[in-house]
Amino acid sequence: MSCIFCDIITRKIPAEILYENECALSILDINPIHYGHALIIPKRHHRDFLEVGTDELSGIMQAVHTVSHALVKAFKLEGFNFFANNGAVAGQSVFHFHIHVTPRYHNDNIRFVLHLKRYEMKAMEETAAIIRSAITDLSMPLMRSHT
Ligand code: AMP
Ligand code: ZN
Repeated sequence: MSCIFCDIITRKIPAEILYENECALSILDINPIHYGHALIIPKRHHRDFLEVGTDELSGIMQAVHTVSHALVKAFKLEGFNFFANNGAVAGQSVFHFHIHVTPRYHNDNIRFVLHLKRYEMKAMEETAAIIRSAITDLSMPLMRSHT
């Protein structure tokens, strides 16, 4: 299966490379939100964040940290965002996981259009309980493998 980011990692197609470590490559986004908008791409192909191995997380985040520092220094930024789209419903268009790091400026008019909700009655407690239970289910096999 062809993947544009795998082709960039293997240097089959060109990109403006900013940084590289053993787990990740950082390039300039070809259609930036602002000039300097960077992508951090794991070297291993993963469709989304859930597929990324825990052994890769610190290398990927180290690259995000380094590139964020560099953007702040290079463009004298007061702020920046980093984010990842996971799944088409969340806006993902390249299905090789990546993290965006983009400069932000005062009055740049970039915002999610948010319609914030309120929890009714016990809904907040119930929602938290559902998530805690899912976390317990996830950690069961991990805990068993450590015993
Ligand atoms: P997403 O929509 O979160 O999957 O982000 C994919 C990003 O990859 C978009 O911001 C694109 O502009 C960027 N992109 C796609 N192809 C290339 C490429 N060949 N080089 C650099 N950036 C790219
Ligand atoms: Zn890929």
